[in-house]
Amino acid sequence: MRATVMYKAGDVRIEHVPDASIQNPTDAIIRVTRACICGSDLWPYNGGPNVTGQQMGHEAIGVVEEVGRDVQRLRRGQIVVMPFAYSDGRCMFCDDGLQTACVHGGFFGNGGEAGGAQAEALRVPQADGTLYPLSVGEDDALMPSLLTLSDVMGTGHHAAVTARVRRGGTVAVVGDGAVSLCGVIAAKRLGSEQIIIMGRHQQRIELARQFGATEVVSERGDAAIERVRELTGSFGVQSVLECVGTEQAIDTSMSIVRPGGAVGRVGVPHYTTIPGAQPMFFRNVIVAGGPAPVRAYIDELLPDVMEGRIEPGRVFDRTVPLDGVPDGYRAMNEREALKVMVQP
Ligand SMILES: [Zn+2]
Repeated sequence: MRATVMYKAGDVRIEHVPDASIQNPTDAIIRVTRACICGSDLWPYNGGPNVTGQQMGHEAIGVVEEVGRDVQRLRRGQIVVMPFAYSDGRCMFCDDGLQTACVHGGFFGNGGEAGGAQAEALRVPQADGTLYPLSVGEDDALMPSLLTLSDVMGTGHHAAVTARVRRGGTVAVVGDGAVSLCGVIAAKRLGSEQIIIMGRHQQRIELARQFGATEVVSERGDAAIERVRELTGSFGVQSVLECVGTEQAIDTSMSIVRPGGAVGRVGVPHYTTIPGAQPMFFRNVIVAGGPAPVRAYIDELLPDVMEGRIEPGRVFDRTVPLDGVPDGYRAMNEREALKVMVQP
């Protein structure tokens, strides 16, 4: 079968790899019908972690092709959404709704035991706990929005939840990538009154406004911090959704959160220490977040997608076949595309 393999910075190829096959009785094989390229895939693409030979992709919707003998809840032919982490659905962390800490869990497309989703097919470990069956056809018009439940919408929601977004509250969303825009959707959905998007890309800002952002801060660094303070009666916001992961993003986040407020981090940190330990202490600031347990959030978010109350699929502005994946990486990296959908 064909799959996406990254060799080094800027070098992504479509190659023939061994067919996905059942290895454990709890596995399933899905034929990938939709996948996408994630902002986090761009980190190794830009020379971050060394990923030589790694199969890429962790977001997918697919059709169940085969199930292992211990798989009970799935059958061939079902359309399923695949969260970016696999999980058994049975351990104490899964019970707590933290499937990304599952004792039998792991991540797709990061060089671990599981392969990548930017491929024709994929082996899904712990299939019963991982895959979420959908009651739609393979080419349903809602596919783009359903696909975001695999990662970006669930991740934006996790940023909002861990930043303790509340009804009537004030929120700043750091970044204008797909997760940030989904964070705006999540903040609006949870009843925020003021939603400040911090970004400067014109089309993305426009989409953020349509998703519910009430104000835009396009300045950077100290000027951005100053502007957020102006917009919030000098106090800062109750909730910061940090959806980028760079040092500047966490710096800004720590400077615009108000006393007693919370920063929800979902951008994979490119930094090793969180700045502002003393102000954080004296201002009673909470810093939370991590890899989103998107599996836990599908129950809550799916009805809103199915009934059209939220349209996170609007973050996709380009669709490519598998052969178009390398150019999709380039386009996202150059910010020519916001988020690229892959239709293998
Ligand atoms: Zn578990």
